[in-house]
Amino acid sequence: MRIVLLGPPGAGKGTQAARVACRFDAPHVATGDIFRANVAEGTELGRAAQEYMDRGDLVPDDVVIAMVMERLAERDCQSGFVLDGFPRTVNQAEALDRQLVKLGTPLEAALSFDVTEEELLRRLAGRAAAQHRADDAEQTIRHRLEVFAIKTRPLIDYYRHRRLLTMVDGVGRVDEVTLRILGGLPSANGGRDPALALVG
Ligand code: ADP
Repeated sequence: MRIVLLGPPGAGKGTQAARVACRFDAPHVATGDIFRANVAEGTELGRAAQEYMDRGDLVPDDVVIAMVMERLAERDCQSGFVLDGFPRTVNQAEALDRQLVKLGTPLEAALSFDVTEEELLRRLAGRAAAQHRADDAEQTIRHRLEVFAIKTRPLIDYYRHRRLLTMVDGVGRVDEVTLRILGGLPSANGGRDPALALVG
């Protein structure tokens, strides 16, 4: 399964991406995690990304696109992947399409998480307290939500036009949201009850 997850910060993409990846036995490729690991290791990529991340801005497209294309070329991504946090701009989505068309392995689904802004702010404030992520400070959170609205939200229409979009209600218990997702992906459970897909 080749799938991308879209949604504002705090929508639960990371949590659900890990579960969907596990279900499909596919790698979970999370650009935010890759950047944070590079920042922690002090790599050149980490140094290039850090100032943008700390401000809550997007890392420039050329940096992100090169990084993701390299990751998708690795062997474990050949039979599928769950992309979490990429694409975040139309430019990134077009680069991904071009690459996948070239490989003859087009994207199969784009999941978009729907969560009210009030709930997002509540969750992000909780995460800031629990994880001390620099970009979860309140002002930065508001900025990240704006960046999402301007740069990333247009991707919902982008994937709708390509008939790849599935909207997911992201409010509810983690397990409930996972069931909604798997229930909405036709090949997730081989036609079985989606509840079984989680345990089977
Ligand atoms: P979020 O909680 O906002 O979903 P992530 O962990 O996915 O956060 O990403 C953290 C930060 O990493 C972003 O705010 C951004 O600076 C950078 N980043 C991650 N993915 C991308 C991308 N596709 N394009 C540009 N910047 C990105």
